[in-house]
Amino acid sequence: ERESRLRDAQGLAEILTEMAGRIAKDRCAGAPLRLVGIRTRGVTIAERLALLLAPLVGQEVPVGAVDITLYRDDLGQGERWPVLRGTEIGFDVEGAEIVLVDDVLFTGRTVRAAINAVCDLGRPACVRLAVLVDRGHREIPIQPDVAGLTVTTDRSERVRVRARPIDPVDEIVRIAF
Ligand code: 5GP
Ligand code: MG
Repeated sequence: ERESRLRDAQGLAEILTEMAGRIAKDRCAGAPLRLVGIRTRGVTIAERLALLLAPLVGQEVPVGAVDITLYRDDLGQGERWPVLRGTEIGFDVEGAEIVLVDDVLFTGRTVRAAINAVCDLGRPACVRLAVLVDRGHREIPIQPDVAGLTVTTDRSERVRVRARPIDPVDEIVRIAF
């Protein structure tokens, strides 16, 4: 197992600032901005972005959450697919600009489930995707509107994201097995 640190706390802070700037710049006209994080660390990243976005858009930016987990079918070939376990969205999505936020984008199947979960609640003015790290290997045609860091990875590699306050430190680490 080989680890290489891609960003430290300072580097992660810079990425979040840049992402917030890009989200604030490319707004969906006339629609209130709301973030929906994908549990677990997508919510942490969304909350950090919301604090940076508030002064840029001149108002509080509410954050909701969707919980999507990979479910393993005991009867199948050990294949896993994303299943919606719950939503905590305490605002109306109807007519809003919804920015989905996750820590790492991989095959895109989790994001697809998150889009379905949000759109089941109403019709947003627009839905965008912001991810801290895009590690490639998409299986469906889903691309981020805002990606903090694009990393070329092997399928077998992992990217470890740690972010305060859920973790004791801020860092992005690439792990090769
Ligand atoms: P998907 O394949 O659906 O894009 O990703 C599945 C889930 O696993 C998503 O929640 C995604 O954030 C997470 N994930 C995929 N690859 C990695 C990775 O290398 N590191 C981390 N931290 N999460 C990952
Ligand atoms: Mg994730």
